[in-house]
Amino acid sequence: MKIKVGILGATGSVGQKFIQLLENHPWFEISEVAASERSAGKMYRDAVNWFMQTPIPEKVAVKKVKECVPTLDCQIVFSGLDASVAGEIETAFAHAGYAVISNSRNHRFDPDVPLLIPEINADHLKLIREQKYGQGFIITNPNCSTIGMSLPLKPIHDRFGIEAVHVVTMQALSGAGYPGVSSLDILDNVVPYIGSEESKMQTEPLKILGKLEHGQITAADIKFSAQCNRVAVIDGHLEALSIKLKTQTNVEEIKQCWANFKGEPQELELPMAPKKPVVYFEEENLPQPKLQRNLDKGMAVSVGRLQPCPVLDFKFIALSHNTVRGAAGAAILNAELIYKKGLLN
Ligand code: NAP
Repeated sequence: MKIKVGILGATGSVGQKFIQLLENHPWFEISEVAASERSAGKMYRDAVNWFMQTPIPEKVAVKKVKECVPTLDCQIVFSGLDASVAGEIETAFAHAGYAVISNSRNHRFDPDVPLLIPEINADHLKLIREQKYGQGFIITNPNCSTIGMSLPLKPIHDRFGIEAVHVVTMQALSGAGYPGVSSLDILDNVVPYIGSEESKMQTEPLKILGKLEHGQITAADIKFSAQCNRVAVIDGHLEALSIKLKTQTNVEEIKQCWANFKGEPQELELPMAPKKPVVYFEEENLPQPKLQRNLDKGMAVSVGRLQPCPVLDFKFIALSHNTVRGAAGAAILNAELIYKKGLLN
């Protein structure tokens, strides 16, 4: 029998992606969909403005949307809630015994909550033991641009030590939720501001790449500087990175680090795991959002254009699917990991 899961914020951009990705999941089935009181009580197909490119799965289309209160018939809740309400709702669900897997920022820096990218810091799951929710617990996903940046940095940091990172992002519209940025603001334009994004990219990797010792995380000692821009792309965040290393190396050794990189999701062959978390493209004009965002179910980060940097040491481009690897797909991978490791009650 499959494990019952509920989607909080099921009508939103991330919520819809959860429903699409979970349609034929081998271990999980959607038993509940919940959203705001505006949607609660309606049939899902009437409450949602569905904009995925596949039809609403019939079983979900006819479900009644519930309110986000912890009386749902499921073991895991995936949260794609607006950050203005996510914090309290997720806490209530954890207290009621649910495994809460969140995409929202609210609990990311709670000292006992893992900020999880399973290929990087699966060991941080031990933090769950420190939580005071009884049977329930909370696990968070990092911000979408942080995930796309942290995966290619991890094997380089492990081997050569990273001292500093400068990153400029070109972020897709779906990252702003639905209906998101108005067409008159973004067509023929680039908006050089995404609220709180730069500070998230400068702080979250320090926890993710940090060391878990004696029940707490010591932040990584790396300086990050981020500049974030919204561009007229539907899905896929492109990031231009320059990095300064602690030890000398060359382009070939860095490519080798990426080629050999894998983590627990690959070893455990989790259903949502990409075969390779980071894939290098030799073509001089790749990666591009339109061409590579769906690589390996949208779960692989594409990298390219690696070259020496005259200011720092090396520079390269990274691309990841913001609502899959950066949100719903990442949360599903987290859930698969906790299930496989026997952490579900
Ligand atoms: P969204 O499209 O605006 O969806 C928000 C969802 O929250 C909707 O289902 C909405 O339900 C629900 N909601 C709003 N107010 C509520 C309330 N008072 N009570 C209960 N539910 C409420 O946003 P999104 O882009 O999917 O993002 C969701 C979360 O994921 C955010 O915290 C965001 O920062 C994070 N995130 C997004 C991305 C991305 O690429 N989009 C990536 C990573 C993380 P109604 O339809 O009923 O209003």
